[in-house]
Amino acid sequence: MEFLYTYEDFKLDLPLVNVEDARYVVLGVPFDGTTSYRSGARFGPILIRQATINLESYVLDYGIELSEVLIADVGNVSIVSGNSERTVDRVKETIEEIITLNPQAVPVLLGGEHSQTLGAIRALKPKSYIVFDAHLDLRDTYEENPYSHACVARRIAGLGVREAMFGIRSGTREEVEFAREKGIVWIHARDYSFDSFVEVVELLPEPIYLSIDIDVFDVSMVPDTGTPEAGGLSFWDVISAIEWLVENKKVIGFDIMEVAGERLGNPTAVTAAKLLFYFIAAAEKGRKL
Ligand code: MN
Ligand code: MN
Repeated sequence: MEFLYTYEDFKLDLPLVNVEDARYVVLGVPFDGTTSYRSGARFGPILIRQATINLESYVLDYGIELSEVLIADVGNVSIVSGNSERTVDRVKETIEEIITLNPQAVPVLLGGEHSQTLGAIRALKPKSYIVFDAHLDLRDTYEENPYSHACVARRIAGLGVREAMFGIRSGTREEVEFAREKGIVWIHARDYSFDSFVEVVELLPEPIYLSIDIDVFDVSMVPDTGTPEAGGLSFWDVISAIEWLVENKKVIGFDIMEVAGERLGNPTAVTAAKLLFYFIAAAEKGRKL
């Protein structure tokens, strides 16, 4: 299997299959060209994959054995260093290649900056975008770059995709006003509950793309990320939402973004790897995808 813009990397520590046979196709995006505070998201994909070594492939509470699930890992997108827009193009083209080979496959992005989620949205064209994030990411430009990590939800809104955001605790007045004008629903981390998630998501059109900016979790769990924020959600808050989502809605793509750091086994990578295993296991258990 030859893609235009990918290269082999350290793989997930699970038995893997070809894209044509897979239900989930993992793709790394090691880009951090617009990171504004803590750098190192370029190491996110390898950090997450390496952290899977420490995880049991059996997901206890679901009774799902991940080594029996059809998963492909196509390596990483060859990024254009410092050029977010061109790298978004490559993410889009790579995901288009994946879904051309296997239209039933669910692409799973490991990042890497949140800016790159735009490439997945352009390729998959969901009707709704659900995001767990500390930040609104609704700036029109940031540091003169409309393809900054701080603008990704704004670019996605510009495509006419409905948006709902959870775990938010950072944004500007202008972003809040933009959200109000466009009918973008966001739930503050202080007000987040499972019921609030279901109430909002029940009304969203399908298919849905789910994005997890790892900084939605409390900084104590995920210190290695581009823009850490205190006062975040718990691991089980997010897992419970994913469980409901994959059982009740059609999800056509998923990502875990903004994992960073320079030390293998850092807490952010360990959290992200567990989240990845839970997403795939929950989706298999629901098997609505
Ligand atoms: Mn964020
Ligand atoms: Mn974000």
